[in-house]
Amino acid sequence: MLNQEFPVQKSDEEWKENLTPEEYEIIRNHKTEKPFSSELLSNKNDGKYHCVACGELLFDSGSKYDSGTGWPSFYEIATEGKIGTSVDTELLLPRTEVHCNNCGAHLGHLFNDGPAPTNQRYCINGTALSFKKDNQDQ
Ligand SMILES: [Zn+2]
Repeated sequence: MLNQEFPVQKSDEEWKENLTPEEYEIIRNHKTEKPFSSELLSNKNDGKYHCVACGELLFDSGSKYDSGTGWPSFYEIATEGKIGTSVDTELLLPRTEVHCNNCGAHLGHLFNDGPAPTNQRYCINGTALSFKKDNQDQ
């Protein structure tokens, strides 16, 4: 787990109350959802992707792309600094773990095999995201 202090602080009990069991497993216990299980994977609507735990804006639909991995993928974050990284040594090869910098929610992993211009691939659990469609009337 991350031992860094985040602006949003909740006890384990509070997190359990505020999240579904599946969200809790991914966000707090750093689990990974089954590939191709997220409804957001095929979502091509214009809008914003927020942290499901605290509502922070994380990704814009403009940077979402189909990576073929089975998880929603983005090549850049909406606002610099909203997402933090740490080294995940759970597997033999260390990976870069990414989390919401506001509440510490585990989101997924970051790889450097994404498309131009960033060459980054934010491989995100759809369960950790809540999608808000852009207002069509504007
Ligand atoms: Zn958050």
